[in-house]
Amino acid sequence: MQKLEINNLHVAVEDKEILNGINLNFHPGHVHVIMGPNGAGKSTLTNALMGHPKYKITQGKIILDEKEITHSSPEVRSKSGLFLSFQSPLEIPGLKMSYFLRTILNHHRSTPLSVPDFQKLLEEKMSLIKIDPSFAKRYLNEGFSGGEKKRAEILQLMLLEPKYALLDETDSGLDVDSLRLVADSINVLKAGKTRMSIIVITHYQRFLEYLKPDEVSIIYQGQIIKQGGAELAKEIEQNGFANLIKLWSQKNN
Ligand code: ADP
Ligand code: MG
Repeated sequence: MQKLEINNLHVAVEDKEILNGINLNFHPGHVHVIMGPNGAGKSTLTNALMGHPKYKITQGKIILDEKEITHSSPEVRSKSGLFLSFQSPLEIPGLKMSYFLRTILNHHRSTPLSVPDFQKLLEEKMSLIKIDPSFAKRYLNEGFSGGEKKRAEILQLMLLEPKYALLDETDSGLDVDSLRLVADSINVLKAGKTRMSIIVITHYQRFLEYLKPDEVSIIYQGQIIKQGGAELAKEIEQNGFANLIKLWSQKNN
């Protein structure tokens, strides 16, 4: 069955255990939202899923469409269909955006796209997400505003069309119009032929009004403390995490 399965995942950073047994399933065509207070372990989860060497998986398994990738390299994970949009995208002076995008896209294809074919595809996707064509000639993220960096990440997502997209606070720093644009693009990908599975980390209900979550999971101290549907995200928007954390602590002590 097609899904991204996380079984009893334990992750340590610099010998400190951050995730203590996470169980989650992500499904094609679904929007799964992960929420939780600062420092709960949300970015640790996405980094560990992507295979960041600093995040050591000490127990548990990650299975992507029945293939175990727990200890695979980031490259293998990416080629298997996993994508991570960073909370803070890096600036890489000297690396032209169009060159970067063509290289990664061709890495994911069995037959590389020619330069003119790639240019055509890039222009089409850029206009969909309203990125000025001149950005293709600029260095990756250099001097981009916060919102422009986030849109450049979505452009990458639109070109690669991964099966599972992890979006770590992609909405932060976006103005209202860009937020709408990014959400619309994600919805197109979700309904498209790859039926992209969207895993969204966000603090804001506004993004979720456009994205319509199928599942919501709350993470706290490296564990899932509650799961539900869209109504759970609304409840948190109104009441914060305090009440959920209190109930969970009472149950566990
Ligand atoms: P969230 O994304 O939910 O705000 P993080 O996953 O970034 O939380 O962080 C969870 C905990 O792990 C925090 O206490 C944070 O300081 C620690 N942590 C995360 N990454 C690192 C790192 N690279 N080095 C040291 N500590 C880290
Ligand atoms: Mg984070």
